[in-house]
Amino acid sequence: MKARVIVIGCGVVGATIAYELSQVPQLEVWVCDRQPPARGATGAALGVLMGIISHKVKGRSWQLREASLRRYETLIPELERLTGKPILYNQQGIVSLCFGAEEVAKWEQLQQIRQAQGWPLEIWSPQQVKANCTALNIEAVQAAVYSPRDRQIDPTALTLALVEASRIRGVTFKFGCEVQAIAPADVHSCLQIQTTTGAIAADWVVVSAGLGSSYLAGQTLALMPVLGQAIRLQAETSLGDPGFQPVINGRDIHLVPLGGDQYWVGATVEFPAATDDELKPEAERLSAVLQGAIAYCPALAQSKVLQTWSGLRPRPQGRPAPVIEQISPSRIILATGHYRNGVLLAPATAQQVRQLIGY
Ligand SMILES: Cc1cc2nc3c(=O)[nH]c(=O)nc-3n(C[C@H](O)[C@H](O)[C@H](O)COP(=O)(O)OP(=O)(O)OC[C@H]3O[C@@H](n4cnc5c(N)ncnc54)[C@H](O)[C@@H]3O)c2cc1C
Repeated sequence: MKARVIVIGCGVVGATIAYELSQVPQLEVWVCDRQPPARGATGAALGVLMGIISHKVKGRSWQLREASLRRYETLIPELERLTGKPILYNQQGIVSLCFGAEEVAKWEQLQQIRQAQGWPLEIWSPQQVKANCTALNIEAVQAAVYSPRDRQIDPTALTLALVEASRIRGVTFKFGCEVQAIAPADVHSCLQIQTTTGAIAADWVVVSAGLGSSYLAGQTLALMPVLGQAIRLQAETSLGDPGFQPVINGRDIHLVPLGGDQYWVGATVEFPAATDDELKPEAERLSAVLQGAIAYCPALAQSKVLQTWSGLRPRPQGRPAPVIEQISPSRIILATGHYRNGVLLAPATAQQVRQLIGY
């Protein structure tokens, strides 16, 4: 008989776990979400996968990043083949602008480390920046780092593709199903989840419910919401060479090309003033982000705003992101708290969950 795994939450993390586990013939996989897929933080994310260009160079943080980047290269074609639908996956890399001379030395050091690890990084002079990305204002730019192997993906399209592909592989999805509690063993199974649509028995439960995970995990996990706002713009024409449209990052503000001369710009990083404060998006903060992007890409000033939105990132308190662990001795696994990098880290998280379950 197959062991039943229930994944709670169908953001990018839960959907990637479901897909990964669907490849294990010994498992029967269910996913419950109180909403349709990708309506939590995932629906707000920009999908920038900053792995090689991040300053994490060793230990768990780097291993998760590297494993995810490697898996993405096979995962996307796999999903496209299974679903027959293309996924917006930008493979033109990430350009990060440096505004301080002292930053350049740090990037040169990182370049050497990455070279030893087998990943390319290029350091561009301001003139090279102008030649490669003609729409950028290089007045204050000291240099840029170009990471050709980093990526960007549409997080909602990815999550929907993961759901469709998982269904094809036999995963059961229950949307509109809120999990109220995870109860201990009865005589037939290890665990039981109580939901708004009834109880379901499980051998394993994976909590990947984003900010909802604290409530389900109880005392063991504290997560803080960190608000992010972003904006979708229609430019008058393509910004720079239409054939070379990498993600641009300047002062932690991303400019993400979407095709059709449309771009995402974001995101704000807004902390609650006090623990119980409700975070409300403030228009001035988003406007400051847009002005920051216009400062390095002036043509954006003529673009039309198509949409603005916000989301809440789940940030673990008192420990590093993300949380991937079994609550021993139970068969409950936490796979949550991915804060600013849930899209980036979802594939490696799914691989770790599979290992924890023993496959
Ligand atoms: C503006 C913004 C920009 C971002 N940009 C990036 C980026 O460029 N790159 C990157 O890697 N990351 C980015 N992030 C971070 C990323 O969005 C998150 O880390 C990631 O989406 C977390 O995914 P998740 O699946 O854990 O959570 P979520 O997407 O929040 O999903 C959790 C799901 O659990 C469900 N749920 C909760 N409680 C229950 C319950 N009791 N019962 C049933 N279901 C429940 C919810 O309905 C939800 O669907 C960004 C975030 C924001 C807000």
